[in-house]
Amino acid sequence: MKLIFISGCLLVAALNSIAQNNTFKIGENLKTSAAKNIQAGYEDYKRIALNIGDYAEVGFKENKSSLLLQNTLSQHGFTIEAGVAGMPTAFVASYGTGKPVIGILAEFDALPGLSQDTSFTKTPIEGRTSGHGCGHHLFGTGSVAAAIAIQQLIEAGKIRGTIKLYGTPAEEGGGGKVYMVREGLFDNADVVLHWHPGDKNEVTYSSALAYRSAKFRFYGVAAHAAASPEKGRSALDAVEAMDNMVNMMREHIPQESRIHYVITNGGKAPNVVPDFAEVFYYVRHPERATVEICLSG
Ligand SMILES: [Zn+2]
Repeated sequence: MKLIFISGCLLVAALNSIAQNNTFKIGENLKTSAAKNIQAGYEDYKRIALNIGDYAEVGFKENKSSLLLQNTLSQHGFTIEAGVAGMPTAFVASYGTGKPVIGILAEFDALPGLSQDTSFTKTPIEGRTSGHGCGHHLFGTGSVAAAIAIQQLIEAGKIRGTIKLYGTPAEEGGGGKVYMVREGLFDNADVVLHWHPGDKNEVTYSSALAYRSAKFRFYGVAAHAAASPEKGRSALDAVEAMDNMVNMMREHIPQESRIHYVITNGGKAPNVVPDFAEVFYYVRHPERATVEICLSG
């Protein structure tokens, strides 16, 4: 199985994959009819994207967003398998029969703290705590539009094969796809297409980064920070010491590594020596083995 990452021209790449596997060259007329199919649904897809933007549901809780995409696909004759791999918002929608089996990934989760109006400047929407970063409300919508355009070509007898739309939860953090891979849901796919909103159309074969995440928790002894600091042992000091050492370690780790963290708990008040502190790390590298080396030091 190949994973192809696309910015912008998801549909054409999918069609080319199908065409290659069907051993006939894709014609302009096929591309044109696919583009027409998508254009005909423009108002619907716009509404879906804006709705998902408004729902702004965070990872594994994308109930309304997932259901909206499932309903749209089932209206076009897709068979829906919902709640796959033990995740209520994960689903697989299939249409067609036989080879090739073309997969398209659809994502729909928002990030906490990114509430944002449709504006180029930072404009949080009052009462909303989460939002879609870098066009993520378009992910699922664009993928569903592409899947339906292909479904219409299969239905019209213009191409053959199976189109599978994978509804994948928690792209922003949580890795819903990992559980779907473990469940074997991608095993019979010949190719899986993925895309990201961008300001230009391009196709790359570059792979994604392998990553591991971990929360490190430190426990100390609480004390009044002014009255009896000598009785305290600061858990926050441990977090700061760790972060400092990791930052020094950056000089000595393989190229292309990425290490980033946030302090998720640094104590409650400056006048209390924190007896608990927590830091949340991500470690990434193109190679899984290197991620493990970074972690083992
Ligand atoms: Zn993004």
